[in-house]
Amino acid sequence: MNVRDSEHMIAELKEKENYELTQDAKEADLILINTCSVREKPVHKLFSEVGSFEKIKKNGAKIGVCGCTASHLGDEIFKRAPNVDFVLGARNVSKITKAVNTPKFLGNDIDFDESNYAFADFRNSLYKTYINISIGCDKHCTYCIVPHTRGDEISIPFEIIKNEALKAVSKGAKEIFLLGQNVNNYGKRFSNAHERINFSDLLEKLSEIEGLERIRFTSPHPLHMDDRFLEVFSKNPKVCKSMHMPLQSGSSEILKAMKRGYTKEWYLDRALKLRSMCKDVSISTDVIVAFPGESDKDFEDTMDVLEKVRFEQMFSFKYSKRPLTKAATMPNQISDDIASKRLNILQVKHTEILDEIVAKQKDKEFEVLFEELRSEGFVAGRSDNNFLIQVKGSEELLGKMKKVKITNPRRMVLNGEIL
Ligand code: SAH
Ligand code: SF4
Repeated sequence: MNVRDSEHMIAELKEKENYELTQDAKEADLILINTCSVREKPVHKLFSEVGSFEKIKKNGAKIGVCGCTASHLGDEIFKRAPNVDFVLGARNVSKITKAVNTPKFLGNDIDFDESNYAFADFRNSLYKTYINISIGCDKHCTYCIVPHTRGDEISIPFEIIKNEALKAVSKGAKEIFLLGQNVNNYGKRFSNAHERINFSDLLEKLSEIEGLERIRFTSPHPLHMDDRFLEVFSKNPKVCKSMHMPLQSGSSEILKAMKRGYTKEWYLDRALKLRSMCKDVSISTDVIVAFPGESDKDFEDTMDVLEKVRFEQMFSFKYSKRPLTKAATMPNQISDDIASKRLNILQVKHTEILDEIVAKQKDKEFEVLFEELRSEGFVAGRSDNNFLIQVKGSEELLGKMKKVKITNPRRMVLNGEIL
């Protein structure tokens, strides 16, 4: 979502303020730092980052701090880093042109509604295009700061989403990537009167766009994975067979304390049903270890789900105490020592599972959309089910879909040959 927010800011500045993009901070007239605040570490990094940009920036160049940390620290950023020129929170992105023209501009209103704002157009990739379908989040999982930085959930009107998709496809995009904190809760609330539509309908309607070949999305919430959603996902040929199912914990007790709204049994039922409906699906997940009160038994439940679902990809984190969240004040916070041990056990097990999954890909054939030039003459792209695949080749392959046979599968990338 931050990548897309950055694209929006770049687009607005290019079109309305005549800025040009540079990756060289030394020659920039404006330096934007787009921040995350989901875990504590990036927040600390922000201030050292501002410090290092201050040292190298041109005389008179501005520094803007954007994103979730800007939302929740607000004014405090000016106090801790007086050389910052403006602070622009997530969900206030459309104010970027005002921010660059107003001394010490502070825009961190989490009730600001930009769900109807049609941003100017800029994309990092010609072939894959991110499209926001909702802003904010209503879930208030007890560990999570996002509802405090991105505000309440509002769906973006279907017409805006469709127009973005049409525009991208007319410029050569083959893939759209729908973004939201709970994409499969789409349609719950719009700012203005809107036809009834849910996420499954949205997928079906977008898949009718001619020339569009692939639809991806993140993040769906396991709670909203009803049968129709699983069916549309499995049957619609344009919907990529890669599902992110953020588990967080395998223990029903901990899930309850996290306020996730589902149990271990519901999660396993959905994941295993998905595996049976869609034989090539790859399932990725997010796991938090050492949430307050997590016992050895709770952690074993997480390991149990890992072994039963055998995720193709896992993002795992130690619980990080965040301001404004309920979990921050819970008793039984777990020591960093135990958290590190659990994270290690989880990751070692997952690597084992992954090695088995990877070995099984040898000689399989995948349709790959090539997107990236890599070193040593390799070109890489993703299969429908999200494996990173590379072949020897040149830039002529970029943006093309080709059938590839896997010859040498490795953990980080599957090597193959074009058929
Ligand atoms: N809306 C998405 C998640 C967005 S945050 C969802 O519900 O899945 C991305 C991931 O960061 C989360 O899935 C969670 O695993 C992790 N995360 C969020 N808050 C965290 C915290 N306080 N400590 C550690 N990890 C956290
Ligand atoms: Fe955070 Fe939960 Fe919302 Fe995801 S669903 S953004 S984890 S509050």
